[in-house]
Amino acid sequence: MIGSGRVKQTSTFNHSQIEELLKAEEDELILWADEVRSSCCGDEVHLRGLIEFSNYCTRDCLYCGLRRSNKKITRYRMTKEEIVDCALTGFRAGLKTIVLQSGDDPGYREEDISRIIYLIKAKADVAITLCVGERDYREYGAWKKAGADRYLLKHETANSDLYSRLHPGQTLAGRLKILGWLKEIGYQVGAGNIVGLPGQNLRDLADDILLMKKLDIDMAGIGPFVPHPDTPLGGEKQGELNMSLKVLAAARIVLRDVHLPATTATGSIHPEGQKMALRAGANVVMPNITPARYRPLYEIYQGKTGMKENMEESLVRLRRMIESCRRKIADSKGHSLKISC
Ligand code: SF4
Repeated sequence: MIGSGRVKQTSTFNHSQIEELLKAEEDELILWADEVRSSCCGDEVHLRGLIEFSNYCTRDCLYCGLRRSNKKITRYRMTKEEIVDCALTGFRAGLKTIVLQSGDDPGYREEDISRIIYLIKAKADVAITLCVGERDYREYGAWKKAGADRYLLKHETANSDLYSRLHPGQTLAGRLKILGWLKEIGYQVGAGNIVGLPGQNLRDLADDILLMKKLDIDMAGIGPFVPHPDTPLGGEKQGELNMSLKVLAAARIVLRDVHLPATTATGSIHPEGQKMALRAGANVVMPNITPARYRPLYEIYQGKTGMKENMEESLVRLRRMIESCRRKIADSKGHSLKISC
């Protein structure tokens, strides 16, 4: 399948073809993905300023340091004022998208999140992405009306048995129902998976990509499994960098016109990981702009990169990295590419 004229290839990939991609020679796959990225997205890299505003979570995902059963973590919630101030600081630093992320935290009511969105939008010309987990249809609708543009809800794994094992009390079907709601409401929708989960195989990874194609998503977060010692999966093997890059590259080749971040998790397992991801199909980087005092407490996995930096230091490091890849920093909000490719 890997051959000349591949950039223009638009045929639909079936499951076995995606598995074949994942078995292909890494260098060639990455080169192909980079060509597709250049053709479908250009050379711009979009910066999305990430605010991790609460590490409270009602869920108990087996791989996550924020899970409710982890009693060792110090919990925090930023106030509405702190969140809005932080977003405005990011805007003044040149960011065009603000991502508001938290655990599944009912401590913020629907009206709290709506107010935060409204206040940010009133003072800053930015796109807002929400990543606050599973809520009800009415809440998602209210936040869209308040001005939110995008919603990230990773599907984590397309293997429904594995999904149920890793997410006590939750099902893949439930997750997919919510992703359907988000599209129906009019959000630009992001899904994504974790690569190297215990019990996951190559078939599952091909299914992840196929599922994202079927969902016709606008963005996808793809990164390695990184164990956290204070979780039931703390002793498991970390996901491999090369397989994470191959899944990212295959996703670019199959999904084509989606936004794909060079994830922090990829940067956390290798010092050059995010740079490698930018060369393997990624076109987004998410500088963490959470105030320095909260940043070390949002520890989904251990060894997260950039935990000791402040916002300016993160931005400088990432801008240098992007330039070293001979890529440009976008000056638009970087909405969905679906209409242009
Ligand atoms: S992965 Fe998300 S929902 Fe699950 S425990 Fe962590 S923060 Fe909560």
